[in-house]
Amino acid sequence: MTQIKQKIQSAVHNLAPELIEISRYLHANPETSFQEHKAVARLTAYLDKQGFAVNTGIANLPTAFQAVYGKQPSPAIAFLAEYDALPALGHACGHNLIAASSIGAAVALQQACPDLPGRILIIGTPAEEGGGGKILLARAGIFAGLDAAMMVHPDSRTELVKRTLAMTSIKVTFHGKAAHAAATPYQGVNALDAVILSFNAIGALRQQITPDARIHGIITDGGQAPNIIPERAVVVFYVRALDLAYFEELLGRVKNCLSAAALATGCTADIEVDELVYAPFKPNYSLSNIYKQNLQAFNIPITEGSETEGIASTDVGNVSRVLPTIHPSLVICEAGIPVHSPEFAQAAVSDWGQQRMLIAAQVMAMTAVDLLYNPETLIQVKSEFDNRSRTG
Ligand SMILES: [Zn+2]
Ligand SMILES: [Zn+2]
Repeated sequence: MTQIKQKIQSAVHNLAPELIEISRYLHANPETSFQEHKAVARLTAYLDKQGFAVNTGIANLPTAFQAVYGKQPSPAIAFLAEYDALPALGHACGHNLIAASSIGAAVALQQACPDLPGRILIIGTPAEEGGGGKILLARAGIFAGLDAAMMVHPDSRTELVKRTLAMTSIKVTFHGKAAHAAATPYQGVNALDAVILSFNAIGALRQQITPDARIHGIITDGGQAPNIIPERAVVVFYVRALDLAYFEELLGRVKNCLSAAALATGCTADIEVDELVYAPFKPNYSLSNIYKQNLQAFNIPITEGSETEGIASTDVGNVSRVLPTIHPSLVICEAGIPVHSPEFAQAAVSDWGQQRMLIAAQVMAMTAVDLLYNPETLIQVKSEFDNRSRTG
């Protein structure tokens, strides 16, 4: 096994110029959710050239793909590749590095052990930044029958396990009645008042919820002119919580706030809850530990004990509920630089970022080697997954 891992390290070393070029190309051509055509063309052309069986447009998503190598159906290990960018900010979440590290891991593994005792896959997952690509891929059964999935996210610190929050959005359109705001306001029904009351009701609700839960929103339509009583007003809230059952309960309480605001103002409310629910991340400590052991060869300090600190939501959560999944982060910049900032976009194309991308590729490939060549390891990972399912 040590020999294979050494081969992986030298394979990544040889692949480095091309992987760096790919990550720079994605960075220079940022594409937002479901528009990642250039990225997919570049990544799949490379994988095709390396001898992977490539299938683009899986799950009816034109910018999703799957690339497979290996003659034996199982075990099947997936490397997840994100490649979408943010509007205006470009690759300020560093997904160009995620894509390059995941394909690097797979190709290095292929080169180090051409007669793989199993199968490796790269799943190209579009639209992480709004669109929930992985939720749709999971629903379409793309992860069914696979044994483990992994990806490494660049960040300003190195962490092994990060929990994420369940999330969905609620859009509410309040309908009232227009009237002249000075001459005959008493003939109007003020839809904006219903919006204001819903913020106040939700503000009061916030004191009574658990510290992990979040409710936040914006007004997307607040009326047409100050001299018209608004007949229509629209607000969008996101609701989040760490626990799925509590999250469902919270959704109900938020809906009550919205209905109460409509009742108080005499408006009607169209409440639309997005059926795309981001699931909370289900950790797999057995798999994280294997990753950690492989990471230790690179002497990068790890921040531990911050699993639920400063967390948000990601569609990787939905993957983690289908199969054992890890989603660790790796430092690519000074502490304190947040993702989704122009500084982080710079870090995503820096030498530091590229070097860490190459390390992520090696550590993921080495982790996959442990799973593929040591059946006991995979049994342990899977049994943790099954036991955690039972306890929720
Ligand atoms: Zn992001
Ligand atoms: Zn991201």
